[in-house]
Order: sequence, then structure tokens, then C-alpha cells
Amino acid sequence: MKKVSIIGGGIIGLCSAYYLAKEGYEVAVFDKSDMTDGCSYGNAGMIVPSHIIPLAQPGMIAQGIKWMFDSHSPFYVKPRLNLDLMKWGLQFYKHANLQHVEKAMPALCHLSLLSKELYQDFAKENHSFFYEEKGLLMLYKTDKTAEDMHHEGKLAEALGLEVDFLSKEEVSKLENGTVTSVIGGVHYKSDAHIYPQKFMQFIKEELYRLNVKIHLQTAVNDFVLKQNEITEIVTDKGTFATDEVILASGSWSPEIAKKLNVNISILPGKGYSFTLKDQSHKPSIPSILCEGKVAVTPMNNDIRFGGTMEITHTNDIKINKNRVQGIVNSINDFYPDLKIEMPKAEETWFGFRPCTPSGMPIIARDKKLKNLTLVTGHAMMGLSLAPGTGKIVTEIISGKRTSVDTEMFQL
Ligand SMILES: Cc1cc2nc3c(=O)[nH]c(=O)nc-3n(C[C@H](O)[C@H](O)[C@H](O)COP(=O)(O)OP(=O)(O)OC[C@H]3O[C@@H](n4cnc5c(N)ncnc54)[C@H](O)[C@@H]3O)c2cc1C
Repeated sequence: MKKVSIIGGGIIGLCSAYYLAKEGYEVAVFDKSDMTDGCSYGNAGMIVPSHIIPLAQPGMIAQGIKWMFDSHSPFYVKPRLNLDLMKWGLQFYKHANLQHVEKAMPALCHLSLLSKELYQDFAKENHSFFYEEKGLLMLYKTDKTAEDMHHEGKLAEALGLEVDFLSKEEVSKLENGTVTSVIGGVHYKSDAHIYPQKFMQFIKEELYRLNVKIHLQTAVNDFVLKQNEITEIVTDKGTFATDEVILASGSWSPEIAKKLNVNISILPGKGYSFTLKDQSHKPSIPSILCEGKVAVTPMNNDIRFGGTMEITHTNDIKINKNRVQGIVNSINDFYPDLKIEMPKAEETWFGFRPCTPSGMPIIARDKKLKNLTLVTGHAMMGLSLAPGTGKIVTEIISGKRTSVDTEMFQL
């Protein structure tokens, strides 16, 4: 059977490895880290078929510019004189229109629903990662956001998703004792959630069971090519022969792709989270606090808060306290009774979301190198879309018809 090498052991690489190994391929995963704390670990764990609107959308540029002047705001582009940033910005601007959003919505929705079905299959066999189907509450405090959320809810309904539009009292009833200061909410009943670290542990164990070779702390630095094919991948631990290569290196994908003369426009969208352990008093349904863009996810006995999107570079590993304070302020504003304190630096996690300027993931065969498949750029939805992505990557490699249309996921 063909040897498939996957570069990157985040959730996208591991879910791809899972379906490829099940199909009978000889799979090896290479990751430069010890695979315990990257973007796929500390995220908010939401599986969101409701998120059908990509980041590149009308109004985002004006809103983004306003937010750039507020150090506590949830969105920020670190200004710097950099060609990649300028190209990314220009592409983002080109995609932030209604026609793009209309094409993106069904593509994201179908991939997300496929993923959710596959999560359900995993959850039937194993409860270790606390898969739950409680939906997602979009909570808001202003009439303007209420209007926008209702509009988005109607679009989701038109795509067949089950959506409830809730008054303040109905939110209170659902929240079961947690006091909120909201004026209403939209409940996407299609959504689900998991505990990301526990899922990553589960999928790694599955991969070992399927004889996938996982090379930890092994950085892929270069490639050996013969005509239009990659024959070997070169790492800091040696050289490995390969028949197929899958580039699933999240925010680092562009720098690896450059070695192959492949141009990918992805910038890291840095986000933060912190997790409070063993909380008996907590909201019971995952929520997004709309005006603050903060995600709140109960995960078994714990609760995780996450947010902010700083478009930056992968060397930017400093924790920006103002942004974390912005998250804390939003939580206390929406849930006046929780009285959350600012987490210490060592309790604050951050990750780099791999953001394409179109807001769409890339799941595609490369046009020049015939054994290279690009699987990256899942931005804010990597956990949601991972099993579906893994399945369609396997279908692409096997030359089968894909379970969902991939036209919108091309480079
Ligand atoms: C605060 C926050 C909240 C989020 N909440 C959600 C959510 O609720 N739902 C959701 O769907 N998504 C969410 N996301 C987004 C999600 O976490 C990402 O989309 C997803 O983790 C990306 O996965 P990935 O596998 O593409 O990348 P990564 O997890 O970043 O994996 C890439 C891997 O490539 C490895 N690598 C890099 N360079 C090399 C090299 N040269 N050689 C070998 N290996 C290399 C890295 O070490 C890394 O392990 C959130 C993100 C953040 C930051």
C-alpha cells in the first residue's frame, strides 16, 4: 500500500491520518512539537454547523478598523511592513462581499454537518472526550446585534439548520440558574461540543492502534523531488521516502510550502483561552457572547473561555494582557454573577488559527506537484471541520468521488 506522510499533527493532520489508515494506507505523521499544546488543544471545542459565514464578509473591514484602535477589542491586525500581510489584506478585501459569502455558506455547512456525523460515530464508541449536543447560544446585549443575529439565524434556517430565536426570559430558562445581562439569544440546536485535549488524546490512541507512525519533535525542513513528484521528506531526524505528502501544518503551512515553490496565503490569528477546573456553578450551554466575540464552553466539570483574533506572525508568542482582560471584561459583563478574575500568565493559553484571506479552508491536490495535497487554513473552524476534512482528503488520495463538493476549498 502507498506510504502517506502527513506534515503536522494538529487535529487536521490526525483526522486525515485516521481515515487514511482506515482505508489501508501506510501513514506517518511528522510534527515538530511534542503534540500536547498547539492550536488544536486549548480551543473552545465547539462543533459549529451554525458558523456558515466566513471571516471575510461584508462590513468586516470597517468593523476591524474600528477595533484596531481599542487595545481590549476582540480583533486586531498587527500593523507591519510585510509583503505577505499586504497580499493577505488585499485578498481579504476582495473576498469580503456578498457573492463570496453566498457561495461559502453551503460549502461550509455541508462540510460541517459531515464532520458532526463523524464525531457522532466516534462518540458512539468512546465517551472520553465528552461529546455533547446542547447546541450553541449566540447571546447579545444590543438591538443592532440582535438584528444581525436574527438575520444570520434565518440564513442558517434556510440551509436546513434548526434555530430558535429566544427572548431574555427564554435564555434564562435555558441557562438554568446562571444570571445573564443579555436581551436575547439565538439557539443553534445543530451544534455540539467536545473537550479538545481529550479528543486529541483519543484520536492519538486510535492512530497507534491503526499502526500509524507518529514522529514527535521532528521538523520537516525540506523535500527531495523527482520531476513533478516528492520522493522524500527531509527532517531534522533524517530522510523518509514517501508516495504521497499531505501538508497539514496549520499556520506554518506557507513556510513549508515555500520549499516546494507553492504559494499559500495564511496568517496566524492568535487567540487566547483559559479554563477553570471543577466549577459547579457555570453556564450549561456553550455560548458566544456576541459583542465581545468570546466563546464560553462547559467541558465536563470544567469551563473554558476563549477569544480574540490578532492577525500576527508565528514568532509572536507574547501574551497580550489587554486582550485577555478584554475577554474577562466581556464575561463579567454578560454573566454578572460569575465574577471571573484575570487568569495568571501561566494559566493563559494561546494558539494560532491558520487564517486564509477568503475565510475558507484549503483541501486540494496541488496543481503542479502530483503527490502533494494541501489541507490547511481552517481558521476558527478547524475542530468543527476536522473529521470531514480527513474523510475527504482520503477520498481525494484514493481517487474517489468526495462526500462533499470541494470547489470552494481549492487554493
Ligand atoms: C482561542 C481559540 C478558540 C478556538 N475555538 C474553536 C472552536 O470552538 N471550534 C473550532 O472548530 N475551532 C476552534 N478554533 C480553531 C482551531 O483550534 C484550529 O482551526 C485548529 O486547531 C487548526 O488545526 P490544524 O491541525 O490545522 O493546525 P495546528 O493545530 O496548529 O497543527 C499544525 C501542526 O503542524 C506542526 N508543524 C508546524 N511546522 C512544522 C514542521 N516544519 N514540521 C513538522 N510539523 C510542523 C505544528 O507543530 C502543529 O502541531 C479555535 C482557535 C483558538 C485559537
